[in-house]
Order: sequence, then structure tokens, then C-alpha cells
Amino acid sequence: GPAAAAATAVAAASVLSDDPAAHRVLTGDRPTGPLHLGHYFGTLRNRVRLQDQGVEMFVVVADYQVITDRDLADRLAEHTENLVLDYLAAGLDPERATIFPHSAVPALNQLLLPFLSLVSVAELGRNPTVKDEITHSRQSAVSGLMFTYPVHQAADILFCKADLVPVGQDQLPHLEVARTVARRFNERYPHADGSAVFPRPQALLSEAPMLLGTDGGKMSKSRGNAVALGATEDETARIIRGARTDADRRIGYDPVDRPEVSSLVLLAALCQDRAPEAVAEEIGDGGAAALKRTVTESVNEFLRPLRARRAELAADRGHLRQVLRDGAERANAVADATLAEVREVMGAAI
Ligand code: ATP
Ligand code: MG
Repeated sequence: GPAAAAATAVAAASVLSDDPAAHRVLTGDRPTGPLHLGHYFGTLRNRVRLQDQGVEMFVVVADYQVITDRDLADRLAEHTENLVLDYLAAGLDPERATIFPHSAVPALNQLLLPFLSLVSVAELGRNPTVKDEITHSRQSAVSGLMFTYPVHQAADILFCKADLVPVGQDQLPHLEVARTVARRFNERYPHADGSAVFPRPQALLSEAPMLLGTDGGKMSKSRGNAVALGATEDETARIIRGARTDADRRIGYDPVDRPEVSSLVLLAALCQDRAPEAVAEEIGDGGAAALKRTVTESVNEFLRPLRARRAELAADRGHLRQVLRDGAERANAVADATLAEVREVMGAAI
């Protein structure tokens, strides 16, 4: 369960001080809408740090996960390009990081068949994140695609033999499935010399593994509670003005008893690179209005350079598509090699 999964997560700092060449990273997002501050502080910043440390990185745009959502499928290409735009604005460098759309890598998707054979329906049914996503889904019936989502993610992670996955907290149960798939595959299909085909991937959590949105729930693209990285300063102010708080004028940092106020304090603190207690102390008895002013200013100041880069990059849609094409080419080469190895250890005739 999530508690056991948390035990397998590692802190970014321990990896960053480690040997960068010894690791390979896979992360990604579904192209369901603009990236927000939860993504930035939850995973994106760690990705950029790891990339800058010289760790080899693959970033998957999980487009197959949303093609069945009619609202999104109409504008899938646009959503996919916009995700790349957010990545580049945040500091991912397509020369160093391989950014590719899931649907463009057939060999990756072919790993699904053996992987599906390694997990039971009961195990998939117990996954708390899938349950939660089903609850929030606009779809009325649960599709096989949605139900098997953690197995697709296992294929995304294992196709490039990633050992590190920078993710938010909600992804820990999925990571556990990927670890299970890797372990069972290695047990059932070892190389002739007994060595394992796949590493057992570890989650890499950030300082903000679950940033809350303006309604007090997990900040999410699909819940209308997020500050998008690419939002204007006015939009940012409006969204934060509408955030839920409480009636206590004294601002404090107490995530358990005052989650809404504390998540706003945390947001300002992350943007200012200070301790949340210090930010709360400074606002003192200013109440929700002063808190929201501080948060708005901090967020807008923090995001200003990212937004400027984003505006520049947005002018060249052709470049965004080229990034995806180049990434797909590199990802295909890696996926073909892994699939060949998988077919060999599984005893394929040719
Ligand atoms: P959706 O509402 O479509 O599920 P999302 O906002 O939850 O979108 P995902 O694409 O599901 O975004 O998640 C992408 C990555 O960002 C995952 O690693 C996830 O854990 C992380 N992430 C998403 N929201 C947050 C958050 N509020 N705090 C920290 N990390 C987050
Ligand atoms: Mg999500």
C-alpha cells in the first residue's frame, strides 16, 4: 500500500550527491491540460535538477492515456505541444532529455502484453490512485485502459530501464506496481547467465510531494484548483483570491489542522525559497487578505522568467513538434532494444 511504497521513495538530495552516470530517469505527464505549480514543485524542478546533474532522462507525454477522453482528444496534438512548451519553459533541455509521445513508440506499448500477465485483476482493483482517478473521471464507466493504467506506466518506466522516477505522492502506488512487474518479470524470465532484465525503479519525491490547490484538495489539472505555470499575472491573482482559507486572522503553518492556509503559506515559501514558518510569521495577524497578497506576489515573481521563456517558445510550434519527433526517434531505438531482449528471454522463436 501507500505506506510501504513511501518507504521505497528516496530523497532528491541523496541522489544528487550520488553518481549521476549510475542513474536513468523516466518521468512524464498526461496531456490533459497546462502544467501547474503542483507539477513544478512536485516533480518538474527535480527533473531539471537531475538533468543538470547529468543524469540521463526520458520524459513521456502519456497521450494514449487520454485518447479515450472525448473532451481532450479533439485537441490532443495541441495539448501535447503545450506540455512540451511547459517542459522547455521550466528548463528541460531537449538536447539532453528525451521528450516523446507514448503513442509514437510501438515497442514500448508491446511490453504491455507480458506485463499484464504478471499482475492480477485483484491487485489492480486495490490501487488507491486508480480508484481516486475513477472517482474524479468524467467517464461514467471504468474502461480497461483506465483500470490497467499502472501497468502502462510500468511499461513507460521499464522500457528505458529507468531506476529513478521523480513523481508526486499520488504516484507511489503506481510505482509499486512497476516494481512488482520488474521483480516478477526478472524472476520468471532471467537471462541465461541469471542476470535481471529490469532494474527495480524507485520514486523520487520532492519537498512538496502533494501541493494542495485553491479548494484544499490535491492541485490537479482537471479539478480547476490550480495555478498554471503559463497563466497571466492577473489570472494568477484571481485564482489565488478565490482560494479557500479560514476565519483565524493569525496566519500560521500547521498543515494538519489548517491545510488550506498552510498550503498557501507553503506555496509562498517555495517561491521565496524560505521556510514556511518564517513566511507565516512575517504575515502575522494580517489575515487571509495579506496572505493572498503575499502568495500572489511570490508566485508571479517566481514564475516571471519561466513565463517570459514560455512566451518566446510559444511562437514556434514547429520547434515543439520537432522536439517530439527527435525524442520519439531516440525512444524508439531504446524501446526496440528492450523489446528484443524481452522477447529473447521469454523464448520467442525468431
Ligand atoms: P489530472 O488531473 O489530469 O490527473 P494532474 O494535475 O494530477 O492531472 P498528472 O499528469 O496526473 O497531473 O501528474 C503528473 C505528475 O505530477 C505526477 O508525477 C504527479 O504525481 C505530479 N503531480 C500532480 N499534481 C501534483 C501536486 N498537486 N503536487 C505534487 N505533485 C503533483
Ligand atoms: Mg493526476
